[in-house]
Amino acid sequence: MWLVVWIGLAVLIGYYYKQKGLNSVLGFLLSLFASPLIAFIIGVLLSPESRAFEKLKKCPQCAEFVKAGAKICRFCNYEFKEEEKKPEKVMSEEEWLEQEMRKKKQKKLNLFFFGISILGTIIAFLLIFAFINRQVESTKRTDMMRGRIEERR
Ligand SMILES: [Zn+2]
Repeated sequence: MWLVVWIGLAVLIGYYYKQKGLNSVLGFLLSLFASPLIAFIIGVLLSPESRAFEKLKKCPQCAEFVKAGAKICRFCNYEFKEEEKKPEKVMSEEEWLEQEMRKKKQKKLNLFFFGISILGTIIAFLLIFAFINRQVESTKRTDMMRGRIEERR
């Protein structure tokens, strides 16, 4: 039963990642092997900057890249005219390379978070295991004590 809920949540997280422009497979695997909560937190932390560069246009006033459909620049509030909504201004090669570098960094960051979440899960499992072990030990001890008391009677 819990397994079904777990996988369902993993699929949801994968969908959430896709919506954010992140790797949905990563989100899915992350929630499957770490936990949906950890994957969700990582998804929130990761910025959705890595978008296709064709969907961006350059603001003529501040030279920042904004979404092609934007009517107002989010950096300087410059109002675009109707014809400027089309992404006719594409990034230069330099800028594109810069973004690729950023994407690579993002990937490294993803791996880093992946490692941390796996480590966290292992630690959590160890703690749970230790806790259960202690419970078993204490029940054994009480059983032994009870046994001694029974013997004395
Ligand atoms: Zn601007």
